[in-house]
Amino acid sequence: MSDRRELFATLMAELGLGTRPQSLIGGTLREGGGAEITLEDPYTRQTLAIYADCEAELARSACDCAAAAQRVWVQQFSGAARGNVMQAIAASVENHLETIARLEALVAGKPLRDCRVEASKVVEMFRYYAGWADKLHGEVIPVPSGHLNYTQREPLGVVFQITPWNAPVFTAGWQIAPAIATGNGVVIKPSELTPVTSVALVLLAEQAGLPKGLVNVLAGLGPTAGDAAIAHKAVRKVIFVGSPQTGRAVATAAGQALKPVVLELGGKSANIVFPDANLEAACRGAQAAIFSASGQSCVAGSRLLIHRDVQEQFLGMLESGMKKLTLGDPLDESTEIGPISNARQFRHVSDMLRQAGEQDGGRIIAGDTPDGQGLFVSPTILADLPADAAAAHQEIFGPVVTSLAFSDEDDAIDIANSTDFGLAGAVWTADVGRAHRVAAAVRAGTFWINSYKAIHVSSPFGGSLSSGFGRSSGTDALMEYTSPKSVWIDTASTPRIAFGYAPDA
Ligand code: NAD
Repeated sequence: MSDRRELFATLMAELGLGTRPQSLIGGTLREGGGAEITLEDPYTRQTLAIYADCEAELARSACDCAAAAQRVWVQQFSGAARGNVMQAIAASVENHLETIARLEALVAGKPLRDCRVEASKVVEMFRYYAGWADKLHGEVIPVPSGHLNYTQREPLGVVFQITPWNAPVFTAGWQIAPAIATGNGVVIKPSELTPVTSVALVLLAEQAGLPKGLVNVLAGLGPTAGDAAIAHKAVRKVIFVGSPQTGRAVATAAGQALKPVVLELGGKSANIVFPDANLEAACRGAQAAIFSASGQSCVAGSRLLIHRDVQEQFLGMLESGMKKLTLGDPLDESTEIGPISNARQFRHVSDMLRQAGEQDGGRIIAGDTPDGQGLFVSPTILADLPADAAAAHQEIFGPVVTSLAFSDEDDAIDIANSTDFGLAGAVWTADVGRAHRVAAAVRAGTFWINSYKAIHVSSPFGGSLSSGFGRSSGTDALMEYTSPKSVWIDTASTPRIAFGYAPDA
């Protein structure tokens, strides 16, 4: 179909989303009344839709709805019943997977093949956490006072989740699934640039049996919706996925309201190649680490640390592999690399590349970009940059890898740990001892040995320093979305009221 607006309208209609982005509050699609927001197709630069910011009033009403529905969710649904609803949601998403993936590819500019994988991961997330919904229990603690003491893990109440544009439906599923499995209500605000697949996910969930209003989606700008929701009395925790700059603002607002936060922020991850590695495999890994999703991935292997002895050989291999990548229309089945997702990010990547070349004297090795209007940045290697150049330590979030040479293991570890980030990293080597030493020494929440980008909902994910704090995925997310309560029962025949701790009373 040549007209992308027509395609947008068709996909929106198939998912029951109306003609333009709207918020989903208490089970009803609601138009906002605030500033105009334009959704642009990053491949053709056509306007797909114009909609109005949800503003603070809708954000407050979303929090009220979530609080009311959360009481129903914990009082009227057993853990097993919640798990059954989540299994039904997974099935419903699976049935609509192709439509969701196509809508995501169109709006976010991400290759369709990647969007299919991300939507299927959402199915997996709901299934995984469905299994946990009736298995979360506390423990009995052998306290020394003669009391029976046990703990329970309680839902927090309403949680507020803020997500970015780079993997919209994946990130929504990633945070919504553990939140509702543990009995919470949710208000989620996806990026204003990619709201529609998150709304689609929650509409499908409601059709599958999720109580209306348990999960509410705000279509709109960060500060307007964000400030109102963070301040709302029903909101008990804020989960933010996005840039360090915005994360700092969100954490500050949450701190003012004395609310805890989880921050899943950016990275500048080191991908370390030793001369004894299988260089063919390392090269394929390095390519996938930075060029897939046009580098718009928080865990992108954006710093390629190569041992001096093999640096030029390895860069030559990477360059020839990079030039074979297929860039093009995200909706085309053969496309491996799509455009940058939006004009703001395109400007950021272009500015950083210009600075690296013109001001910092970096050597730029670049592939081609397709003809047309799309927001393409060709896969690029930046070599010979001074260590203090911005592109050597700041997140670019584009298909641009900075190559740095190292001389030995200690040097590699020092360079890997020289940024403010602590999200991910990898090492490629045939030496098993070195692999484990480097894995232990590099500051990262996720680390791969002879691999890159493997993740699964069952394994914890998160970072430190400018990459954030707290964990998502796995059983760690169950802990983030619950709080422990300690219950004491006096078992003595004569009641004892002790002020303070009374050993052997
Ligand atoms: P961003 O920080 O600009 O925006 C993220 C979200 O915050 C959006 O929904 C935005 O509307 C909202 N927002 C903006 N200002 C706000 C405010 N004052 N109050 C509340 N919300 C506000 O990030 P982005 O450009 O959308 O995404 C790219 C960034 O996300 C990169 O840094 C990337 O590394 C990071 N990211 C991290 C992870 C992870 O799991 N660690 C995953 C994906 C992306």
